[in-house]
Amino acid sequence: MNVLVVGGAGYIGSHCVRQLIAAGHRPVVLDNLVYGHRAAVAPGVAFHVADLGDEAAVRRVLVAEKIELVMHFAAYCYVGESVTDPLKYYFNNVSATLHLLQAMRAEKVTKFVFSSTCATFGIPARMPITEDLPQAPINPYGQTKLDVENALKSVALAHGFSFAVFRYFNAAGAAEDGTIGEDHHPETHLIPLAFAAATGRRGALQVFGTDYPTPDGTCLRDYVHVDDLSRAHIAVFGRLATPGAKFFYNLGTGTPTSVFEVIRAVETVTGKKVPYTLAPRRAGDPPELYADSSKAMRELAWQVKFKTIDPIVETAWRWHSAHPDGFGK
Ligand code: UDP
Repeated sequence: MNVLVVGGAGYIGSHCVRQLIAAGHRPVVLDNLVYGHRAAVAPGVAFHVADLGDEAAVRRVLVAEKIELVMHFAAYCYVGESVTDPLKYYFNNVSATLHLLQAMRAEKVTKFVFSSTCATFGIPARMPITEDLPQAPINPYGQTKLDVENALKSVALAHGFSFAVFRYFNAAGAAEDGTIGEDHHPETHLIPLAFAAATGRRGALQVFGTDYPTPDGTCLRDYVHVDDLSRAHIAVFGRLATPGAKFFYNLGTGTPTSVFEVIRAVETVTGKKVPYTLAPRRAGDPPELYADSSKAMRELAWQVKFKTIDPIVETAWRWHSAHPDGFGK
């Protein structure tokens, strides 16, 4: 299929582009390069620099590239920033996505795969998180993703869109060949920051909150490899043939891992100490989030290749140690 990957120069999008190629599809990237990196896109892939909110530009690309399905990864994703600058999140993550859907509607491209988040669940009543738990985000980032999920339900009903929503837990790791990986500016994510602390490229890592009701007092998260995530996106394609079909899947390994456990994994893999300080809780952080992904496993035959934190960190380190300056932008 001809697949438009919106945000294909970003972290998860660029990994998905490679998986699409490996699966025999033809990815086309649309990215405004605000956070994405041209160098992250596999060589030879059609690349359009445009904003997803630019309906005319998106329509041109949909037609020129004969797009059959759109995957949407382009979003701002910093929980803390979404608390301090919510309008930035509503404009980009919600408004711009509505323009993208409008462009698709106009050009009759009605298959859509959306990257959502476990942050839509807020502080769930129980763990692990199944798809049917109530969604009550506790930060604007999660709220904007939930808003799009809801818009999609109405759009599917009214205009015959078929769509799949994937709610990621903590995307982590890098391509196994070490050629692409995570490179955010600013970087706020735990694993890359732990590398930076271990290698002395930054000061000590701050551990945000050690008084959570968890075994070691730090937050529990479900770190899932970015290539495992990508494979689920492609596995759903066959189910989108029916107009109006809609699917929701949680994607994680199901293994809760604490901040201290991540630090230990980084120390094991790098052979270096991670200097850290204990800091207050970060606004918007739920104490624990981990997935029940049995629905994706059952319906999509999705299998997690990277089941524990050490091999995930290992792939991330392969990328970071070879590219300490990331893509160099
Ligand atoms: N975290 C931390 N120090 C940091 C960055 C993150 O202690 O410098 C913690 C954060 O509070 C959360 C976990 O690490 O519990 C994962 O955070 P990250 O920002 O990587 O992903 P998020 O869960 O926000 O998507």
